[in-house]
Amino acid sequence: MSVACNLCGRDDSETWGRPKDGLRLVRCRNCGLIYVNPRPTPEALADYYRKDYFEGGNYAEDVLRERMYRMEIARMLPWIGSRGRFLDVGCAMGKFLSVLPDTFEKRGVEFSSDAVRHARESFGLDVRVGQLSEVGIERGHYDVVQMRGVIEHLQDPRREVREVRLALKPKGWFVLNQTPDLGGLAGCLYRERHNQVKPREHLYYFTKATLSRLLTEEGFIVRNVWRPYWGTPYAAPWRDFPVFLFNLVSGRECPAFPGNMIAVYAQKVD
Ligand SMILES: [Zn+2]
Repeated sequence: MSVACNLCGRDDSETWGRPKDGLRLVRCRNCGLIYVNPRPTPEALADYYRKDYFEGGNYAEDVLRERMYRMEIARMLPWIGSRGRFLDVGCAMGKFLSVLPDTFEKRGVEFSSDAVRHARESFGLDVRVGQLSEVGIERGHYDVVQMRGVIEHLQDPRREVREVRLALKPKGWFVLNQTPDLGGLAGCLYRERHNQVKPREHLYYFTKATLSRLLTEEGFIVRNVWRPYWGTPYAAPWRDFPVFLFNLVSGRECPAFPGNMIAVYAQKVD
């Protein structure tokens, strides 16, 4: 199905990069948002996530992921404080919430009922099934709402960001913790070969500019921007830098590289 730009509402886009996985990537001529268009129907997308989407992790990957979560938490605490009501939107199996300090009152929202069952059984977490806009979340209730690696999956990011604002207390924090950034070197040089361009699951691709515009228009102030690479468990500069050059000229996919991902801490106005 064909969709208009989620950021500015226009339906005037040009091809961006080459088709990938049989899907076209376009860039809005008006605001620069990159997105998949046309894209699979909501039914086809639901089907895609039903097929063991959250399975297949192995022990080594889990260890790396947990180290990454600890790093992210250490970085966000000076901004968001170390207590309060924390809502993780798209919390998957609840691993991030399980690592978050218990000084927080934790809650999750997740549309995969299999993942929700796991989050409840393994970690005893309070998780609701569905999209944020569907689950009837409390208004003005949360100190922090996080989306980690989530906004790029959404069918209507603006609608969900609006819901985040409603769920937050005045001056509450919206932590967009990790989404692909196509405004960096890899996005410019590699385009669809950026390692986070996965059109079957990632429908929207932001840059600092497009993400900031969305947040500002929906009543947030961007307080901090982080491009995680250095010091993360996924970074190996002695390997990534030569591979970046080699893969660029040989037509392969981009490795982990500075600027591939972005995290934004935004605060609700008023
Ligand atoms: Zn646009």
